[in-house]
Amino acid sequence: MPPANAGLCDRFGRTIDYLRVSVTDRCDLRCSYCLPKGYRDFEERDHCLDLGEIERIVGVFAALGVSRVRLTGGEPLLRRGLVPLAARLNALPGVQDLSLSTNATQLADQAAALRQAGVARLNVSLDTLRADRLRQITGRDVLCAVIEGLMAAKQVGFEPIKLNMVVLRGVNDDEIDDMAAFCIEHGFVLRLIEAMPVGDTGRSAQFADLQPIRRRLQERFQLLDAAIPGGGPARYLRSPDGRFSVGFITPLSQHFCATCNRVRLSVDGTLYMCLGQDHSLPLRPLLRSGASDAELMAAVRAAIDLKPERHEFREAPGKLMRVMARTGG
Ligand code: SAM
Repeated sequence: MPPANAGLCDRFGRTIDYLRVSVTDRCDLRCSYCLPKGYRDFEERDHCLDLGEIERIVGVFAALGVSRVRLTGGEPLLRRGLVPLAARLNALPGVQDLSLSTNATQLADQAAALRQAGVARLNVSLDTLRADRLRQITGRDVLCAVIEGLMAAKQVGFEPIKLNMVVLRGVNDDEIDDMAAFCIEHGFVLRLIEAMPVGDTGRSAQFADLQPIRRRLQERFQLLDAAIPGGGPARYLRSPDGRFSVGFITPLSQHFCATCNRVRLSVDGTLYMCLGQDHSLPLRPLLRSGASDAELMAAVRAAIDLKPERHEFREAPGKLMRVMARTGG
C-alpha cells in the first residue's frame, strides 16, 4: 500500500492516531447500562465486515499514520477468527500497539493465544468483585470465569491490564476501595468510568460523579499525576510507591474532547467520528464496490473533517440512540 504523506489531522488540530475496531456487536452479557435485556437489533451477518475487510481497513488507517488499534465490540472474544485477525493486524506496517477490550468471560481459554498473536495490552470490564452484584449488573453468573480470565492474562504477561469499572450510584460505588485493594494485590490498573447517556440503557444508569471520588482517593493514597501507556481519555494518578494506579474517565464531569485522538469502526464498516455524536462514514459500500486503497484513504480523510469538536453528553443527553456495543465501546 502506498504510504500516505501526512497523518490524519482534524479541523480542530487533533491528530488521529488511534482506531477502535468493533469485531462483533454481539455480547454474552447484558450490562444494565449497556445492552438492553432482550436486545435483538444486531447487524445482519452479511453486513458485518469479514476478517479480510477489517484487515484491509486497518491497513488503510495504518498507512494514514494510525499506529494504535484496539479490538472491541460487543464482546470481541465471541468473534470467530479473532486470534488470527489479531496476528494479521499486528503484522501490518505501522501498527505499533494492538490492544483489546473484553469482559473476560472467555479469556482464560484465549489469553495465551492472544498474547502470542501480538495483543499487548488488555482492558477488562469488571464493575464489582461480588458475585451477586455482578449477576445483577450483567445478567449472568460470571465472576469466577472473569477472575480466571484475569489470572490467565496476568500469567501470560499482558502489561498493563486495566480494570474498567463503571461506577454506579447505590449499586457498586461502595466497592471502590475493595477494587483498589484487588488491583494493588495483582498489579492491575484501576479505571473508574462515569456512565454515559448512550442509548436508553446508558441514560437510565445510576450516574455517579467521579470528582468527589477522585478527591477522596487522592487523599487516601497520596496520589500523584501519572502517565500510563494507552494515551486515552483517562487521567491517571499513582501512589508514591507506584503500587496503585487509577484512571478516571469522566466524560460528564470533565470531558477531554480537546485531546481526542480516535475514531471507531463498527462491525458493519461504519466509521464513527465520536462516541457521542452521529457523524459517520459508511466504508462497507466503498469496500465492496472495489474502491482502491487511494480511494479509501481519500474517503477517510474527508470523514475526519467531519469529526465534531466534542460530544454533548451533558447538554443533550437524549441525543444518542445507539448503544455502546453498536459503536464499539
Ligand atoms: N465487551 C467488551 C468489554 O466488556 O470491555 C468491549 C465492549 S464494552 C461496550 C466496552 C466498555 O464500555 C466496557 O468497559 C463497558 O463497561 C463500557 N460501557 C458500556 N456502556 C457504557 C455506558 N453507558 N457508559 C459508560 N461505559 C459504558
